[in-house]
Formats: sequence, C-alpha cells, structure tokens
Amino acid sequence: MKKFEYMEKHGYEQLVFFHDKTTGLKGITCIHNTTLGPSLGGTRLWDYESEDDATLDVLRLARGMTYKAAAAGLNLGGGKTVLIGKADEVKSEAYFRALGRYVQTLNGRYITAEDVNTSTNDMDFVSMETDHVVGLPGKSGNPSPATATGCFHGIRASLKELFGTDDMSERSFAVQGAGQTGDFLIGYLLDAGAKKVYFTEINEKHIEKIKKKYPEVDFVEPDDIYALDVDVFAPCALGAVINDDTIKQLKCSIVAGTANNVLEDESKHGQALYDQKILYAPDFVINAGGLINVYHEIKGYNEEDAYRDIARIHDRLLDIYKLSKENETHTQEAAKLFAKQRIEIINNMRANYVKR
Ligand code: NAD
Repeated sequence: MKKFEYMEKHGYEQLVFFHDKTTGLKGITCIHNTTLGPSLGGTRLWDYESEDDATLDVLRLARGMTYKAAAAGLNLGGGKTVLIGKADEVKSEAYFRALGRYVQTLNGRYITAEDVNTSTNDMDFVSMETDHVVGLPGKSGNPSPATATGCFHGIRASLKELFGTDDMSERSFAVQGAGQTGDFLIGYLLDAGAKKVYFTEINEKHIEKIKKKYPEVDFVEPDDIYALDVDVFAPCALGAVINDDTIKQLKCSIVAGTANNVLEDESKHGQALYDQKILYAPDFVINAGGLINVYHEIKGYNEEDAYRDIARIHDRLLDIYKLSKENETHTQEAAKLFAKQRIEIINNMRANYVKR
C-alpha cells in the first residue's frame, strides 16, 4: 500500500506504528486532522489478515472520526487505533498498560477509548499509564442511551423536515436490532406517543426481552423489516443495510437509526435514497450522541450539559437538510460538506495571532 500517497490524498497528519516486545502489543494509531482539537477515536482489536488491511482500516476510521466530531460541533479531531491480534489470546493488564504508554507518547494529540473487542475495563488499565483516555468506568458511563437519545432527536428533526411536525402519534416506525441502542430507542419512541412500532432481531433473548418490556411492539422477521409500510426505518444493528437489494424494497419516507456505515456505498446509495425521495439522516451525525457524551468527560462530566449538547443533533440535522437542498446533493454528501465547512471556518478564524 502506498501510504504517503493515501495520506496526501486525504489530508492525514500522522500514522504511528508501535510494537511492545514484552507483551506482543502490535498496533497502529492514525491521527487524521487536529484542526478543531485533539484527535479522539477508540482502540479496535482485530485479527487482521494483513498489515495493509489494518492500515487501511485505521486510516478510514480516523478520517470518519474527523467528520463525526466536526459535524457534532465538538472541539475534537479524528483519530483511531487498531491493534493486531486475537482478542482471546492477547488481552492482559500489561498489554493495555503498554498501549497506554504509547498513547502517552503522543502527548495529548490523540485520546483513546473503547471500541470493538476492547472494554471500559481495558481502558482502566490504559488509564494507569496515560491521561489521554475516555470512556472509563464510573465516568460518562454506557454510551448507548446517549446514542439512542441523539437518534431520537434526529428522528424528530427528520419528521419535522418531511411532514412539518414531529408529532409521533400519526407515525409508524420499524427498528432493526433491539440491542443496546435499539432497546432504548424503542422506549423513547413509545414514550413520545408513536402510533406503531415494529422491531426485528436475530437474538432470541433480545426478542423475548422486548416482547416482555413493550407488549405493544410487534416483532417481524429480519428479512421483512425493509418492506414494511412505515414512516421511519431505523437501522440499529449492522452496517451496509441500505444496498442494491434492500433499497428497492423500502416503503418508508425516512431512514434514521443508530447504526454505523448504513449505506453500503455512500455515494451510490446516498444518491439512490435522494432520488427515491427518502430522507436519509446521515449515520455519523445522528449517531454521535455517544461521542458527545464521552467528550464531556474531557471537560469534566456533567450529565445535564452532555444531554443538552446531544439534543443539538436535532438542529444540526435540519441545517444539513437545508444544505442538501441548497446544493442539490444527497444528505450524506451534505453532512460531509457541513463538517468540512466547520473545520475550514474555525481554521481561518484562528489565522490572527492572539496571546493566551
Ligand atoms: P448491539 O450489538 O447491542 O445491538 C445490535 C442488535 O442487532 C443485537 O441485538 C443483534 O442481535 C441485532 N442484529 C444483528 N444482526 C441483525 C439482523 N440482521 N437483523 C436484526 N437484528 C440484528 O449494538 P448497539 O450498541 O445497539 O449498536 C448498534 C449499531 O449502532 C452498530 O452499528 C453500532 O456500531 C452503532 N453505534 C452504536 C453506538 C453505541 O453507543 N452503542 C454508538 C454509535 C454507533
């Protein structure tokens, strides 16, 4: 892989490879852009097939974090760490403390957190060696209710955009995945008076839990969720669920959920939804509640302040929909433009010298 060529093309700042011989820790940290503030992104532990796969993943994920933080109005840049290894073989106290020491060498340019195959408990070990870690036990807590709350505000904004009102009493919803975020989202929709909520799941325990907790919600089989005649489809399970096969089944007017990378191909399927007049709430904007919540740890966590910031997802989405209309471009593209504009404006604003 031509790393410098890729970094130049997409404006990366730094790519750091590290190896700790005592614990076998092998990883890569990528800092994409720190215009707005220190880069932040979780540490993903994965058994990558090749070093190039790991490198491409960390580059791609760090860039995604730049847009996510910028669009969320945070003073954060985009970064990410990937560790190469089998989770059940490599994890230990020393392994994560070794990671903490490498994070510390970046002197605050990068802040880490949990991600796939790493937990808040692992981050406790990281924090023994560095201050540049968030998402610790006993601080901002489980990000899922925050993510689901942000998604709920995003759904309200999307309804307002399309129907002129966010009144849910005439609206129906299909929630895909009733795990950590889907479960909360279903509850919030019902509390807001949703006319009808359907859900799908593949995990029997989760199906039973939802049926018991919310008897008024109807279960549908996983393959039937796309073609339901509802106002809102909320993907809260997997990525790439909007693709060539599913797009032609959709009867909904809005796609808005917590899942990451909802569009299999951002340009193609973002455009296809736009052409079909289905309003798409860009994933990295509507699911930023967890990131906003954890960001407040850096400032000294206060739940009320954090949730006030999370509620701003509502107005931010309306701004993005406006940009989409003005530019006659699909909403995923408009969201990126929105993020890039904020980075550029703040960068330019800082051009004059101010002594602090
Ligand atoms: P989760 O694992 O707790 O829940 C996902 C649920 O989806 C599980 O119950 C799983 O059984 C179910 N599922 C998997 N495949 C399915 C299918 N084909 N049909 C129906 N259900 C299926 O995950 P989560 O934390 O709720 O996150 C959901 C999505 O949101 C993921 O894409 C995640 O990356 C994204 N996300 C989560 C957060 C957060 O704070 N948890 C933040 C940002 C983004």
